[in-house]
Formats: sequence, C-alpha cells, structure tokens
Amino acid sequence: MISDINFKGLLSIVIPAFNEQEVLPTFHERLATVLDALTIDAEILYVNDGSRDGTLEVMKILRAHDKRVAILDLSRNFGKEIAMTAGLEHARGDAVVVIDADLQDPPELIPELVKHWQQGWDMVYAQRIERRGETMVKKFTAYWFYRFMQRVGRRVHIPENVGDFRLLSRRAVDSLLQLREQHRFMKGLFAWIGFPQIGVPYQRDPRFAGRSTWDYWRLWNFALDGITSFTTTPLKWASYLGLITAFFSFAYGSIIVLQKLLYGNPVKGYPSLMVVVLFLGGIQLIFLGIIGEYLGRMFDETKRRPLYFVSSFDSPHQNSHAQGKSAMELDRE
Ligand code: UDP
Ligand code: MG
Repeated sequence: MISDINFKGLLSIVIPAFNEQEVLPTFHERLATVLDALTIDAEILYVNDGSRDGTLEVMKILRAHDKRVAILDLSRNFGKEIAMTAGLEHARGDAVVVIDADLQDPPELIPELVKHWQQGWDMVYAQRIERRGETMVKKFTAYWFYRFMQRVGRRVHIPENVGDFRLLSRRAVDSLLQLREQHRFMKGLFAWIGFPQIGVPYQRDPRFAGRSTWDYWRLWNFALDGITSFTTTPLKWASYLGLITAFFSFAYGSIIVLQKLLYGNPVKGYPSLMVVVLFLGGIQLIFLGIIGEYLGRMFDETKRRPLYFVSSFDSPHQNSHAQGKSAMELDRE
C-alpha cells in the first residue's frame, strides 16, 4: 500500500454546474482551502452545463485567480449525468472527485476520500447519515426506490443514501468511461464497474443558494431510468402475465366448446365468437411475451457494455498487458 507521506500524483475535482452563479464563489473558496491543506497536487475542473445565468463568467473569474482551475463549457444543457461524464473524460488526475457545486456535498470531506484512496480503495463514496432539509415524501420515495433496486439488481449492489459525491481511482474512471450508454443512470454505473468500493459517512446539508432543479416529475423519470436501464424485470413480468392470461383464455375457450357440444347453447353465434376472441387474444399475448424476451436481449446487447473488468491478473507468463502492479508489490510476492 502507498504511504501518506511523499505521495505524488494529481487529484482532479470535477464540478458539474448549471445556473450556480450565487454559490460558485463560496464553493470555490471552501474547496480551495481544503485543497491547499492537501499534500497532493490538484486540478479543479468546472463543467458549465449550458447555464443561462452568469455561471461561466464566474468560472472565468475563478480561473483568473487560481491556476488550478480548468473550465469545460458544454454547448447546451445536457443534464448532470452527461456533464459529469464529460468532466470525468477531461480530468487528468490519478484520482477524480465528483462533487456538486451547491455545497450540499461538503468539500471538507475530500481529504477523507483521498485517505481511503491512498489506502487502496478504487471507489470511495460519501454516504449521508441524515437528510436534513428534505421532505418526508422524498425520504420515503428514496427508501422504496433503493429497496426495489436491491431486489431486481441482484449482483450489483447499489449502496443506499449515496449520491454522486465520490472519489474514483484512475482505473475506475477509465472503466466507467467504457460504458457508453445514452441513458446514464450513474448510481447504477458506478456500482456496476466493481473494484474495491467503500463508503464514508457524512451529513448532507440543505442547498446553500439557488434552487434544486429536481422536482417530483424529474425524480420519477430518474427512478424509471434506473429501473429500465438496469433490469429487464418489467419485461419479464409482461411475458409471464401474458402466458398466464393466455392459458386461462385457452382453458375457458375449451370449456365453451365442450358446453356447446354437450348441452348446446341458446345464444346463436356466442360460442364460436367467444372461442375466436379468446384464441386470438391468447395467441397475441404469447407472442407479445416472446417479442418481449427478444427485446430484453436486444436491450442488453445495444448497451454494448464491456463484459467485465479485471482487478488484477497474476500469471507466471506476465506479458505487457498486465498492469496495475508496482515494482514494490511484485517484490513482495
Ligand atoms: N447540474 C448540472 N446540470 C443540470 C442540473 C444540475 O450540471 O442539468 C448540477 C448542479 O449545478 C449541481 C449538481 O448538478 O452542481 C446537483 O444539482 P441539484 O442540486 O439541482 O440536484 P440535487 O442536489 O437536488 O440532487
Ligand atoms: Mg443539490
């Protein structure tokens, strides 16, 4: 493991910002204070996500006063997930911290994140202990959302009470950037790449200034994104529901035919009509289910995710592809 002292390297801080002109100066001041106290060099990458206020101008002023600042200006508002991805792609650091601009994520936690990274963790996420300034409804919906995701996404564990505030090692960043899907459900993607991950508890503060761009409609869409980009479970339900309904249609159709043959039916045309309706309905449901199964597979294929990431590869025939081992570590083996 790497020791604290003499630790060389670059730490990138990625900050997606959309209409944050009021908070940015305060944010930068607090961040700079924290970074000054660290021994490791830092790069501060502000991502302007098509702000409609003076955010970009504020960034430029900060840039003029602080050599560590870099500005990535997107052509329009793409949403936080994309802004964050763009930032990760342009960050040069050996470790990258993603943090909100609105001071809900305390920059003072960064040294703690860095410490864990230096101890060998690839993903250090900040975990809220308490949600201050948030409504009961938001807490409640968040709780159920995680419960649901836990049930459907069996292998990938998405930690609770965790936002995007976290530190990623270089190999975690490189892995994450290989996931190119359009609907970027970041909480899921962060968890999906694997590698040693650990949580650091903290208190999340209410928004400092400006207002949250999240309303319930967006929250709902966010949940939908999470469910539909990480599971084909709803599609599976549709298949089984279709099969079961089709089974009952066929059973009922047979009963009508038998009744007609044994006792006759006083209503003319009813048995044949009913049998045709049930038969067609049943056939359609079965085929919808089959289409659903294919659709689910296509959905998985179109994401074009890598199949796996390797944490380390230990073989007597190490070739130039082997990576991630320092001379010191090899010595010890
Ligand atoms: N953000 C962004 N693009 C957007 C919306 C938000 O880059 O379209 C940034 C925003 O400036 C902030 C972070 O994402 O730094 C979190 O946004 P917000 O505080 O609105 O979300 P919440 O804290 O409610 O999750
Ligand atoms: Mg916020």
